[in-house]
Amino acid sequence: MFPKAHQYVNIHAHRLAISQDEWVLTNLFAGDDFPGANETAYYSTGLHPWHIKDADSEQLIKKVELAAENLKVLAIGETGLDKLIQTPLDLQLQVFGAQVEIAERRGLAVIIHAVRSYNELIEFAKVHQPAAAMIIHGFNGSFQIAEDLMKAGYYLSFGHRLLISDKLKDVVTHIPAEKIFLETDESEHGIRELYKVVSELRNISLESLKVMIGENVKQVLRIR
Ligand SMILES: [Zn+2]
Repeated sequence: MFPKAHQYVNIHAHRLAISQDEWVLTNLFAGDDFPGANETAYYSTGLHPWHIKDADSEQLIKKVELAAENLKVLAIGETGLDKLIQTPLDLQLQVFGAQVEIAERRGLAVIIHAVRSYNELIEFAKVHQPAAAMIIHGFNGSFQIAEDLMKAGYYLSFGHRLLISDKLKDVVTHIPAEKIFLETDESEHGIRELYKVVSELRNISLESLKVMIGENVKQVLRIR
């Protein structure tokens, strides 16, 4: 079921919803147990760049492919590119590309972990023109980078850093409404705090912000 009008959408968290008024896309890693088809929660699942190990990454991608058949899985991820880890970027790109293809085949979105790799993601989109909705989670770049990513087709999701960063506040205030998602990820801050800040920054009511992000969910997630 799509989020209801009164619900706060949390597009990326490593937990289930903590109240009735929260709608969460709960992340599972590729090695985790996958949900049963009749569970009420919705999930993203993918092979995180931190978990890529030469020996079993193919096996884990197969698990992701299998999980993508589950009607409760709405997105592949988190997957992505992280230039602060040892894993070679070539291998990360290969694993990322394979998972984007799974998302395309299944009509799913992609939740993207990006560390110092916004330029590589822009390049990836130019070359591959992904048909999947591509959501960068925990966006932490400048307004210029945000513009370049959006031009390349990406959506941006903002997490707890938004609460303390003037740079991110500026970005979330000025980018088009249809590109914005909010998330708690692993933070102990609630999704409500983020909604409150964004509604103040954009000078719209909480209700309007819920409608706005609810519409974005309908654009990118195919709830089956
Ligand atoms: Zn996460």
